[in-house]
Amino acid sequence: MSLNEDLTRLSATDLAAAIHTGEASAVEVAAAHLDRIATVDGAVHAFLHVDREGALAQAAAVDAARAAGNPPASPLAGVPLALKDIVVQKGVPTTAASKILEGWIPPYDATITTKLKQSGIVILGKTNLDEFAMGSSTENSAYGPTGNPWDLTRIPGGSGGGSAAALAAFEAPLAIGTDTGGSIRQPAAVTGAVGAKPTYGGVSRYGLIALASSLDQAGPCARTVLDAALLHEAIAGHDPRDSTSIPEPVPAVVQAVRRGQGDGIKGMRIGVVTQLGGEGYQPGVLDSFRAAVAQLADLGAEIVEVSCPHFQYALAAYYLIQPSECSSNLARFDAMRYGLRVGDDGNHSAEEVMVATRGAGFGAEAKRRIMLGTYALSAGYYDAYYGSAQKVRTLIKRDFEAAFGAAHVLISPTTPVTAFKIGEKVDDPMAMYLNDLATIPASLAGIPAMSVPSGLAADTSLPAGLQIMAPALGEQAMYRVAGAYEQARNAAAGFTLLDRVAEVPTVAGR
Ligand code: GLN
Repeated sequence: MSLNEDLTRLSATDLAAAIHTGEASAVEVAAAHLDRIATVDGAVHAFLHVDREGALAQAAAVDAARAAGNPPASPLAGVPLALKDIVVQKGVPTTAASKILEGWIPPYDATITTKLKQSGIVILGKTNLDEFAMGSSTENSAYGPTGNPWDLTRIPGGSGGGSAAALAAFEAPLAIGTDTGGSIRQPAAVTGAVGAKPTYGGVSRYGLIALASSLDQAGPCARTVLDAALLHEAIAGHDPRDSTSIPEPVPAVVQAVRRGQGDGIKGMRIGVVTQLGGEGYQPGVLDSFRAAVAQLADLGAEIVEVSCPHFQYALAAYYLIQPSECSSNLARFDAMRYGLRVGDDGNHSAEEVMVATRGAGFGAEAKRRIMLGTYALSAGYYDAYYGSAQKVRTLIKRDFEAAFGAAHVLISPTTPVTAFKIGEKVDDPMAMYLNDLATIPASLAGIPAMSVPSGLAADTSLPAGLQIMAPALGEQAMYRVAGAYEQARNAAAGFTLLDRVAEVPTVAGR
């Protein structure tokens, strides 16, 4: 292995240490990852845009600060990161994987982007996703699908498949995702990565292109729980520019991971949700989950069964609330303000240009949701659809409250199935929506939830994920369990999951 390949295999924690001690410069680390992207991303297609010059300049600034004797800007100073292309970055093209935003260059940074820059984290580029983050496979991207590094003919999950694939293909040790109904957790699960959705309001939404505002939450993705926790602390915190941002201090999740790895989880009560498993779940996924439950019990946790009867309505409620909010949010793409404009030749009215632009600029799934949402919100149907869905949302929150009376955290498989073939479900929206069965309840309740690799499902030899959910602001309990479980699973298996990812073919990309 060349030195470059060694650097791309390291965790963010180890890279930060190497940069801090001077074993490697931030520029070397950034260059190694940019080279890796250039070598494999033609095959993986995790990135929509690679900002080589910007990344090297950010890395050089980290090296210069170190040379000047300044303390590191953060525990992740100099570590490269892949940014989901729904988070705006000043001067760097942002498309949300939609044709309608083609050519748009944001004039400002999202709060997350600002925080990453202030932490000395080096942004390598923007990653692929389902158009406006609607989907579970990254196939709804207007710029073509992303391959799962475990098997490039399979999906890497969605909507944040690009971020997850970048981690599994060793193109970046850290990534940012956004999660509305599972878009951080589901891609993490099917690629063998770690992904966490913070408590709603825990990370600023300022500068995230809005999908469903009452559900959208950005969060960290990484190859280890500790790396995810470090990134979590770097991006979280109150932001006056986001009216739904919460004022509570950033949860000390790094400390929580270390506690889980050091003291373990003895005495913690962990609830297995009866409704999240069984019918519709692949046997190998359920086996992997049962093994995880046994491992948590071995660690000294008390396992209890909890019932959340209203979860059976979660998917239906989500697919009314999400399209309703998204139909309203996507109204801003009116051909006047951003990106694409079709038919503006002087012979057409503003309305005609708007219709032509939206017709050409939005993909099939975006149009489907705009129609569903507009219908659900229309006079006469509002109470029957949107109103009922909001009532179900309340009942799901109450189910969680009752369950957290009996357990510190709740667990389930993250996804019902492992990565499926590209093309397998594109023509069947219902089959696609069913991927979100286990992730959506936490989204509707606004509580933190994360996915940690639980090994390979025996029936497909593909990664499965353990979902850990905690009460609002309960990130510390969630990360403590995740840290303890990851350590125990790796020790028992004798390897980390991503050590086993097949070598990705070399096909030059951007
Ligand atoms: N798959 C879900 C959807 O299509 C979730 C997407 C997301 O979390 N952004 O809406």
